[in-house]
Amino acid sequence: MSSTTQKTVLTGDRPTGPLHLGHYAGSLKARLELQGSVEQYLLIADAQALTDNAGDPAKVTSNVVEVALDYLAIGIDPDLTTLAVQSQIPELAELTSVLMNYVTVSRLERNPTIKEEIRQRGFERDIPAGFLTYPVSQAADITAFRATLVPVGEDQLPMIEQTNELVRRFNSTVGAQVLVECAAMLSTVTRLPGTDGKAKMSKSLGNAIALGASADEIRQAVRSMYTDAQHLRVSDPGRVEGNVVFAFLDAFEPDAEKVAQLKAHYQRGGLADSAVKSVLEDRLQGLLAPIRVQRQRLAADRGTVLRILCQGTEHARERAASTMGAVKRALGLSYFA
Ligand code: ATP
Ligand code: MG
Repeated sequence: MSSTTQKTVLTGDRPTGPLHLGHYAGSLKARLELQGSVEQYLLIADAQALTDNAGDPAKVTSNVVEVALDYLAIGIDPDLTTLAVQSQIPELAELTSVLMNYVTVSRLERNPTIKEEIRQRGFERDIPAGFLTYPVSQAADITAFRATLVPVGEDQLPMIEQTNELVRRFNSTVGAQVLVECAAMLSTVTRLPGTDGKAKMSKSLGNAIALGASADEIRQAVRSMYTDAQHLRVSDPGRVEGNVVFAFLDAFEPDAEKVAQLKAHYQRGGLADSAVKSVLEDRLQGLLAPIRVQRQRLAADRGTVLRILCQGTEHARERAASTMGAVKRALGLSYFA
């Protein structure tokens, strides 16, 4: 038995819109590679998405199937990976409420990802309590499934750190190793920038290329990409650092030698932005065309997608319930057993 066969993997995505290339590079690709060699759970985190979309629940609920379609279209196989919907597993909310007692408000306020997201969303002091505490619900998700490995983008590292702090506090309180610590698994692309040059491609920032994007949308997005503002004439030397087109080539062009040659040529001068963009466009069209076709095929069979989610959620719930049972017993919350 190889060491990865004992690993349990949990990741998830917020159903706030269809998934994009940032998800693919930062996390989905790793999930595909792990599939079959580990016990893997993918959680569609609708309850978490409500923490900053409470006024628009339809935005969240309508995207649950969209995210499932993205998973299936890229090759997630429900026979090898359990797909589950967070809100349909009440044990996750129950575990969240227990873990909430092992973290302070000031610790939550120090979480750098939360700080950045509060700024982006313009919450200032009007932070929904659920939003501030979503790292605790994420810790509940990870620990309920006894996950040991979490393939995520860089923005999630503070969440993993907070999860492990909670695990240690809980275990030391009850004097037993009830909850399991986890490790983040970062891909080579830890943070794919947005097409607008912003640091992170994100559903909420409107700077994403969706996995189901049409050929036209891909073309438009690549053409509008931020390059090097100083690269005015083709003959000018250009900068590749901070140049979105090259960040995308690094992430999606498997021929590293080809990328290195393009970079050298661009830096020397004599390579037009349009020429680099056309290499990237070809690559992205090639990557996304089969995903789009598969996605459209599956979208026509919504019943099957819902059935996959329902069965996966049922299976996931058993696992979460068994952890919650252990947590309650450890705390002595088992009066009638
Ligand atoms: P939202 O704006 O609603 O938060 P999002 O685009 O940030 O959406 P999430 O659902 O929060 O996406 O993230 C799901 C997973 O994808 C996380 O592991 C996250 O680290 C990863 N991820 C998201 N965007 C990127 C990105 N641009 N580069 C690398 N990884 C990413
Ligand atoms: Mg996010």
